[in-house]
Amino acid sequence: METVTPFADIAREIQDAGGGVFKYCYQCGKCDVVCPWNRVTNFSMRRIVWQAALGLPEIEVDDIWRCTTCGECPSQCPRGVDQIEVAVAIRKLAASYDVFSGAASSLRAVRTSIVSEGNPLGEARDQRTAWANGLSVKPFTEGMEILYFVGCYYSYDPRNMKVAAATAKLLERAGVDFGILGTRESCCGESIRKAGNEEEFKTLARENIKAFIDHGVKRILVGSPHCYHTFKNEYSEFMVNLEVVHIAQYLQELVEAGRLELTGRFDKRVAYHDPCYLGRHNGVFDEPRDVLGKLSGLELVELPDTRQNSLCCGGGGGRIWMHTDREERFGDLRLAQAQEVGAEVLVTSCPYCISNFEESRLGLAGNGGPPEGAVLEIRDLTEVVLESFGEGGERP
Ligand code: SF4
Ligand code: SF4
Repeated sequence: METVTPFADIAREIQDAGGGVFKYCYQCGKCDVVCPWNRVTNFSMRRIVWQAALGLPEIEVDDIWRCTTCGECPSQCPRGVDQIEVAVAIRKLAASYDVFSGAASSLRAVRTSIVSEGNPLGEARDQRTAWANGLSVKPFTEGMEILYFVGCYYSYDPRNMKVAAATAKLLERAGVDFGILGTRESCCGESIRKAGNEEEFKTLARENIKAFIDHGVKRILVGSPHCYHTFKNEYSEFMVNLEVVHIAQYLQELVEAGRLELTGRFDKRVAYHDPCYLGRHNGVFDEPRDVLGKLSGLELVELPDTRQNSLCCGGGGGRIWMHTDREERFGDLRLAQAQEVGAEVLVTSCPYCISNFEESRLGLAGNGGPPEGAVLEIRDLTEVVLESFGEGGERP
């Protein structure tokens, strides 16, 4: 009896942390079959769920940090188990003991940066608007049509800063009266929450909600599916209902309203990659394809794992901050799929996907992959639309 009680206590702790759905699992193993990790290594979510039910989670092993929260296995579990809830609950337990093993050790620095500067990249808060240098982007004031909530990767990551600039140029072209929060914007907190750091998430959410209220924000535009997901589905826990729109949806809205006329051309064969948090988690599949489909000259092709079954880029659930061995990168698989279907450009609409695909592209080129010129281009949806007008067409 002495050993049973602590196990029951731990199972209860996982349950209290939101992972109680483990009790419905009947160990069929379907989650392992569909998980993208099993295309590159051996990983068992079924085992993690089983250990949680027994109160025996191994919080010191790398595997508890692997899940990218891509949403594939919850969408296919015959018992309706949300395995992400179990994984996040175990991570909360590990974080509460300050146990961040192996690849997850980077989360300590990420957490420190989020707490001190409001972003996970170790950058200064006062540099948050550096992406807009040279552009006529205004601070948001009450009465403006929409707040552009930029997000951390678009604000600081050099490759993604170009996407933020492309977004601003398109908004300007469509005559949208928009502004940004600048240094009052903090990380949305979606990924740090999935990495088990609940208190940090709550602090960020409160800061952002206060900034929205202080500025009289009515409608929010985001480029990151992670910001979209958390504003739409998670900030409601703080008794606010935010009207949030993702740029893929907003571009379609602007085009349909006649505010953005797609008069240019994009003469390339393009494959669209569905980001997990835009597609599978939130059902936004058609809007980006509709916009791409309206560009003259563009030939849209589908990837093998597409829409509801899109292959994760590997960046969700905090994985964007963790080291992934070269041979285990989902991005390499995705680029190979894009090349299989003969795409010249792989387009997506998420900063994590852009970062991971660019890393894979550089890796493939440097590893005796396809010769320069045959290597795929990686583009955000906004960049493709902007380039169709003949702007910003230089290779990032
Ligand atoms: S798919 Fe669902 S029921 Fe089957 S092992 Fe995974 S969590 Fe359990
Ligand atoms: S959510 Fe995705 S990454 Fe996580 S275990 Fe399920 S299939 Fe694997």
